Amino acid sequence: MNISVIGAGAMGNGIAHVFAQNNFLVALVDVNADQLQKALQTISKNLDRQIAKGTLTEEQKTSTLSNIKIETDIAIGVKNATLVIEAATENTDLKLKIFRQIDEAAPDGCILASNTSSISITKIAAVTKRPQSVIGMHFMNPVPIMKLVEVINGYATSKETIEKIIALSKQLGKIPCEVNDYPGFIANRILMPMINEAIYSLYEGVAGVEEIDTVMKLGMAHPMGPLQLADFIGLDVCFSILNVLHDGFGNPKYAPCPLLTNMVTAGFLGAKSGEGFYKYIAGNKDLIVSERFRK
Ligand code: NAD
Repeated sequence: MNISVIGAGAMGNGIAHVFAQNNFLVALVDVNADQLQKALQTISKNLDRQIAKGTLTEEQKTSTLSNIKIETDIAIGVKNATLVIEAATENTDLKLKIFRQIDEAAPDGCILASNTSSISITKIAAVTKRPQSVIGMHFMNPVPIMKLVEVINGYATSKETIEKIIALSKQLGKIPCEVNDYPGFIANRILMPMINEAIYSLYEGVAGVEEIDTVMKLGMAHPMGPLQLADFIGLDVCFSILNVLHDGFGNPKYAPCPLLTNMVTAGFLGAKSGEGFYKYIAGNKDLIVSERFRK
């Protein structure tokens, strides 16, 4: 079975890693050749971590890496695919453009999945000639570690497509959860309002960054506070999901907090840009609150 992964960012490299480790051949596609090299380095580093933990052998690392080929041209990258998983930037117009391209170039019968966090699968499917074979396959970050795959059924997705994706998710050692296609699905419909409320609490001066995260970690047994999690997901990703919820439901409760809007506009995107609610310094694992939020 040939898998094509479109987009080699945080999620794309993790998805390629998991499929390749389970002996699938993966074509990893990105418009940015540097990003492809970076993705291969990240996968190699993450495989080394598994070796250090004793859960993977050197031979398995070599075979995993040899299962991944990189490509900058989408049409070439999907031409032999049985399943394409799109994990490009969370932008509706971009995803619609990519799905038109994939639909044109992928073989008949190939399933087209999106890892989108919030964009309508029904809308994506509608720009293809195979809406019955379009589905959401929402992996969680970091993909090699997180067990959940939220399987999103678009309005026109066929039962056969759903069954194949559920079986495949299980084959990867993941736990699939079937949900219907409404804004934010389940994961982000519940998570993002919580993150937005944490940002509002900071914005309104109810408490500081550390206090908000500590209350949620120690009080609710969350492994990570909502502000740290937002930094980890990417503040631009959180912003765009909140906008999808806001537009989709037309309810002001989903409007992104003005502080989040400012941070994203100014390029403070969290871990990937080096600063969000916390500051990220290469080689330093300590959690350092950004000086903008220090008392
Ligand atoms: P990212 O910004 O890290 O990576 C996106 C990649 O897409 C980049 O490498 C970019 O070069 C590439 N890209 C852009 N246009 C492209 C095109 N036309 N063809 C091929 N590649 C293209 O983003 P990410 O965090 O990996 O998110 C990817 C998707 O996964 C989004 O839909 C996001 O909502 C979803 N997602 C993200 C998370 C998370 O925690 N970050 C979790 C679950 C799902």
